[in-house]
Amino acid sequence: MLLFDRDDGDAVSYSRTLFLHPPSYHGFDGGAGSRYQARREVRSFWYPTWLAQPAALVPGSRLVDAPPDDLTLDDVRPLARQYDLAVLHTSTPSFAQDVKVAEALKAENPALRVGFVGAHVAVQREQALAASVAIDFVCHGEFDFTIREVAEGRPLGEVSGLGYRDGARLLATPPRAPIEDMDTLPFVVDVYARDLTVENYYIGYLLHPYVSLYTGRGCRSKCTFCLWPQTVGGQRYRTRSVDHVIEEIALARRRFPQVKEYFFDDDTFTDDLPRAEEIARRLGRLGVMWSCNAKANVPDATLRVMKDNGLRLLLVGYESGNQTILNNIKKGVRLDGARRFTRAARDLGIKIHGTFIFGLPGETRQTIDETIRFACELDPDTIQVSLAAPYPGTALYDQAVEQGWLVRDALVGSDGTQQSPLGYPDLPHTEIFAAVSRFYRRFYFRPGKLVSLAGEMMRDRAIMKRRLREGREFLGFLSRRRAHA
Ligand code: SF4
Repeated sequence: MLLFDRDDGDAVSYSRTLFLHPPSYHGFDGGAGSRYQARREVRSFWYPTWLAQPAALVPGSRLVDAPPDDLTLDDVRPLARQYDLAVLHTSTPSFAQDVKVAEALKAENPALRVGFVGAHVAVQREQALAASVAIDFVCHGEFDFTIREVAEGRPLGEVSGLGYRDGARLLATPPRAPIEDMDTLPFVVDVYARDLTVENYYIGYLLHPYVSLYTGRGCRSKCTFCLWPQTVGGQRYRTRSVDHVIEEIALARRRFPQVKEYFFDDDTFTDDLPRAEEIARRLGRLGVMWSCNAKANVPDATLRVMKDNGLRLLLVGYESGNQTILNNIKKGVRLDGARRFTRAARDLGIKIHGTFIFGLPGETRQTIDETIRFACELDPDTIQVSLAAPYPGTALYDQAVEQGWLVRDALVGSDGTQQSPLGYPDLPHTEIFAAVSRFYRRFYFRPGKLVSLAGEMMRDRAIMKRRLREGREFLGFLSRRRAHA
């Protein structure tokens, strides 16, 4: 046990705590900051922000993010002997593998207390605990302060927000209220600087190296497929103060002078427009380059303020080019509005990474083609095409079970890449799966797109090197998909 003085002057002893994003599929982007956990088309890793947050609350802890560091089970197993408490971030696709890691850690150190956090255990508390005696507790809802109290050595029965094992019995404590004063969460960049290698984090459409963090949690929209707001973050936008955000970015710049871009990974950073504009103006004064998630409905005036103050790129979830599908999933966006928004952003010189999903309720062969045409018409700088993933805890999952659309349980295949678990009477899941490569080919193999990609590479040798590597990985991804289709 380690002794530390808290802000209130009391000495508190903390368990020696390891926060672990476990090794899983090779190249698995399943960290506690990833929205849809899978191995991507090209090597990509989000920061494990959800784990860094409690790590910042537990003095003397360590955060290990195995996939970006290429750590295997043999690499992390010996760590079990150095700690009293291990907190593992899990996800629906990786849960079975994460249980094996927990069992290996426990075998190495039977006295180690093991807890699981993440959306999967937040909604399937009892099933998760029942999966293995190696799991001592699981957290539901936000788990930052739950973990701190466990690390302080409080009896599990007295810590709200837990499901836990007491001998053969599986018990639960009352739910924990969501955090209202978001400034009580300490900065994550200190933990990144202490425990992570920023150069190991890549996202294809972000400059490298980048750093991502949250300025708030939750989203006001109610998209039926979307994981975090329906499980952990909530369907309102709880935000940190502008001062708190700016202070952390200023600190990050001192910690990481090599970082080229900051990404605000809030579900929808533009959910609170006046605040987004205020943060933008303050970032402009700091002179940083930044990007964020946005819905395709940001007014021109806000886009201009953001662009004038360092905004480089918006990550926009368009999802589909068919209005009925957008209505089915409660996206709250109209196609014409998305067109207007995209034109305005492009006119201002803001880059766009557009994300689309195949296999959402209402998908047909015709809507697949409509979405491909819509994407080519919008012509975002880059795209990502995902398969609808019915995560437990989402309205989409309940709907899929009720309607009998779930044709397979696994969200990813044996190599960790996405599978198509949903199938419809007139559209088998195999066709939905095959449509992803078709979309990528039709979008990227257009002469105009190839010329613009080549132009980008010619202007910057570092980008050329990176794009050639990603191009090789991407072509490998397409040919693997063809083999699986
Ligand atoms: S707007 Fe984006 S983050 Fe918000 S619920 Fe919809 S998909 Fe999720």
